[in-house]
Amino acid sequence: MRHVIVVGAGQAGASCVAKLRGSGFDGRITLIGAEPVIPYQRPPLSKAYLLGDMALERLFLRPESYYAEHNIELRIGATVRELDPQARRIKLDDGELTYDDLVLTTGSIPRRLPARIGGALAGVHVVRGLADVDAMAPNFVPGAKVLIVGGGYIGLEAAAVARKLGLEVTLVEMADRILQRIAAPQTSDYFRDLHRRHGVTIREGVGLEHLLGETAVTGARLSDGSEIATDFVIVGVGIEPNVALAEAAGITIDNGIAVDAQGRTSAEHIWAAGDCASFPYHGARIRLESVPNAIDQAECVAENIMGVGKDYIAKPWFWSDQYDVKLQIAGLNTGYDRVITRRSAAESAAFWYYRGDRLLAVDAMNDPRGFMIGKRMIEGGKSPDPALIENPETDLKAMLKA
Ligand code: FAD
Repeated sequence: MRHVIVVGAGQAGASCVAKLRGSGFDGRITLIGAEPVIPYQRPPLSKAYLLGDMALERLFLRPESYYAEHNIELRIGATVRELDPQARRIKLDDGELTYDDLVLTTGSIPRRLPARIGGALAGVHVVRGLADVDAMAPNFVPGAKVLIVGGGYIGLEAAAVARKLGLEVTLVEMADRILQRIAAPQTSDYFRDLHRRHGVTIREGVGLEHLLGETAVTGARLSDGSEIATDFVIVGVGIEPNVALAEAAGITIDNGIAVDAQGRTSAEHIWAAGDCASFPYHGARIRLESVPNAIDQAECVAENIMGVGKDYIAKPWFWSDQYDVKLQIAGLNTGYDRVITRRSAAESAAFWYYRGDRLLAVDAMNDPRGFMIGKRMIEGGKSPDPALIENPETDLKAMLKA
């Protein structure tokens, strides 16, 4: 019987096995995950779950019974240590398995602070998995002081939760502005203002020199020479694709596990999808760190394992929740040269990114309509006249039909 093994039981791994079974694959399926928990969604970890508004069971992508009912062998708390592409064999702590096709959905690894600047002190946390969030949750008590290192979406979401729960929050960002790597100054300004109004102290252009404390963190010395006291630290300084297993097996790595348009790696019968995989996109090679990408790419791989032979056409989008603001992003803004602001209602705003006349991306804050329309335009290759976008009187929906 044909055997597909999926390594990594996160969003992409779970989507891949479900798609295989749902499409009629009748061979053996094994899904292997290092975390001791059935596949779950990560976004609530820095939002509703951290806030205490979401029960553990609601994180699960599917009920535990689903896997047995669909004849999917789910091995949790099991790490694949080695991969031998020639022998089509993987090695676990308790034995070996052979496969006909293998899918790598190993996700990513959060960057940590080096131990020489205090990264190994107790009270220093990252936000990647359930265990990380469960470990930091007891610190979220009113009046406690938290230092957040990094002004990306994860750091900002954690800041919002901490303020809601009454903590004193300081966020330091080494770059000139929060969200510098991923968004336009307009979006940075919007979120800086939002967080300041909620009482977060944001310090931009200020790096962390080192953390203070003997065994547990008690404070931090910053690059401007100042020192601040803190009860705990959350590090949100980005992630790296988890490529170790593939790399050791000699599979080509290029900003992640390099796959072709259909999800094949450089090794025969080995595929990859999700955060760990880089793929061709409009003449470049990119990697996306988002739930929609993990699902769509993994489902495409599942279909290709069944012989469909289709290319993965990424339709990038992402979201973030902070306080009562829902940010939705459509497209990729790489290479933009101007940003058009559209305000359709008092509490909403959208920033439309253009390169020349071409619409690239939209950041929509509490503007689901603007997001949906922008997304459809980007996916359809339409680029509306920026002057019309800027005019709040313009009926966007009508433009979609034009
Ligand atoms: P993962 O979900 O990371 O799964 C990979 C799994 O593989 C892990 O469980 C890992 O333990 C396992 N694994 C790795 N190596 C091995 C091995 N050798 N053997 C066995 N198992 C292994 N995206 C959005 O679109 N919107 C959001 O709002 C959003 N918020 C986020 C908030 C947080 C706190 C985090 C951490 C992420 C967020 N993301 C968000 C990103 C999104 O969750 C990821 O892009 C998505 O989970 C990627 O799925 P994946 O399956 O590729 O990787």
